Amino acid sequence: MPYAYDPQNIFARILRGEIPNQTVAETEHTLAFNDIYPQAPVHVLVIPKGPYVCADHFALEASDAEIVDFWRTIGRICAEKGLQPGEGGQGYRTISNAGEVAVQEVPHYHVHILSGRPLGRMLQ
Ligand code: 5GP
Repeated sequence: MPYAYDPQNIFARILRGEIPNQTVAETEHTLAFNDIYPQAPVHVLVIPKGPYVCADHFALEASDAEIVDFWRTIGRICAEKGLQPGEGGQGYRTISNAGEVAVQEVPHYHVHILSGRPLGRMLQ
């Protein structure tokens, strides 16, 4: 069973309001908040509210509305923070870790938005 979702993972607890977060954006299907251990001046985590473990799980099983809402939220955050390359911003990186090889720490799908310093060529 590749997609066994653990409802006690830390992001599920954040979604239930059991753990505080610094919210950056919230919509019907999506929550975005600052990473507790930021790796760059901008380090936002974007998560769907639904119980998805990783990117392929979300892409295959979420509704179109959830997927559109998720990526539009990412776009809005980048726009609101002025990160878009070529628009006066310096650009940004979106990454998502899945499973052991990527050292996914929290088993609730999330995209990291990183910006505010040179990020180099490596993914992380
Ligand atoms: P992953 O390694 O799963 O891609 O990234 C998980 C991220 O969640 C890490 O960057 C870590 O700093 C962040 N994180 C872990 N626990 C918490 C928490 O309780 N609150 C917040 N805001 N971020 C967390």
